[in-house]
Amino acid sequence: MRLTEIPPTAGLPPRLADLLAPRRDLASAMSAQLGTPTALVTCSGTAALMLALRVARQRQPRRDTVVVPAFTCPLVAVAVHALGLRLRIVDLAHGSFDLDPDALRAQLDDRVLAVVPTHLGGRVTDVDAVNRMVADSGIVVIEDAAQSLGATSGGRSIGLAGDVGFFSLAAGKGLSTWEGGVAIARDPAWLEAMQALQNSLPALAAFERRRCIELVGYTLFYRPLPMRWAYGTPLRRALKRGDLVGAIGDRFPPDVPLHRMGDWRQGVGATASRRLPEFLDERRACALARIERLRAIPGVEAYSDRPGERGVWPVLLVRMDSERQRDAVLDRLWTSGLGVSRMFIHALPDYSELRDIVPRQHCPNAVDLAARSLTISNSPWLGNGDFEVICRVIETS
Ligand SMILES: *Cc1c(COP(=O)(O)O)cnc(C)c1O
Repeated sequence: MRLTEIPPTAGLPPRLADLLAPRRDLASAMSAQLGTPTALVTCSGTAALMLALRVARQRQPRRDTVVVPAFTCPLVAVAVHALGLRLRIVDLAHGSFDLDPDALRAQLDDRVLAVVPTHLGGRVTDVDAVNRMVADSGIVVIEDAAQSLGATSGGRSIGLAGDVGFFSLAAGKGLSTWEGGVAIARDPAWLEAMQALQNSLPALAAFERRRCIELVGYTLFYRPLPMRWAYGTPLRRALKRGDLVGAIGDRFPPDVPLHRMGDWRQGVGATASRRLPEFLDERRACALARIERLRAIPGVEAYSDRPGERGVWPVLLVRMDSERQRDAVLDRLWTSGLGVSRMFIHALPDYSELRDIVPRQHCPNAVDLAARSLTISNSPWLGNGDFEVICRVIETS
């Protein structure tokens, strides 16, 4: 039996020294790295989305509906609901993470406040296509780049083509402060308005202390040996119960905590962020080589960048020929400790937890992607030998 567990995504390995480093300002570290004049640090990616939606609502009080992809993080639906806004979903285009243009057009009317094109799994989505469709309508475009910190399009950070973009600093998502988020915008007025709202939030000192302890825990445990216990044991337990949604941690309480991230955690994130560009380059080189290996397997599709895009590589996202084949691979690998998992279990309408929030809309491409896809961790701890084991299982399932 293996004694180690490869984390399911390539989070930047934290270092104990990050916890002890002198205080640094995370917003300026992020804006320098992303090439923007300013950035806003929030307590989570979801909080950044909620602040952006609240500013949008101040500007467009008669609009109350948010359009999101049918395949995305359930927290996005929870956040829209928590603000008292209505949710509409749009199917993905066939074979990509872009919103299907016809399905999107069909959902746009004068109730729509915002559209949330989403850069899933490090890949870059076509935001310009969404911009063209909503041009001059008053609809706001918020880029969900939660999983794609560091990705660029046309040489510029993603998150700047729409009105606001946000990244997540949650556990396992690239750079992490255990929980956290970063928002950027072309027009600094957006961030100023979001900041004004954030300044009125409570500091929640006790809650922030808990987050600090959790970040210490993350720093100690986010490595292959302790991950076996901290991540692998609950994963295997949930799968044994048949609780797939619990297995990937996709079940969320209806209340999203909103507060400000404390200075200490910001400093830890800022210190770690100095290793991020080099880390992303290494992960990219590794991913591009492994994508080629995967693509040589008949019936396997592996997502990559299109011209002009330079995504990041937390995972390799693979789509198999059939659900049966995908499930056969997961039966052999999900509990193996090799970092093979799923991105989201369902398309949004298929989560029973979201029954009262998500409209029952037909979204065949999202349902199909949920049924046929799996993720392979691009963590630096997944060695070539282990990757080859994964490839052999895929070849023979
Ligand atoms: C994780 C995630 C979010 C939420 O980010 P948090 O920082 O966890 O609040 C939003 N959208 C997508 C696509 C995500 O993967």
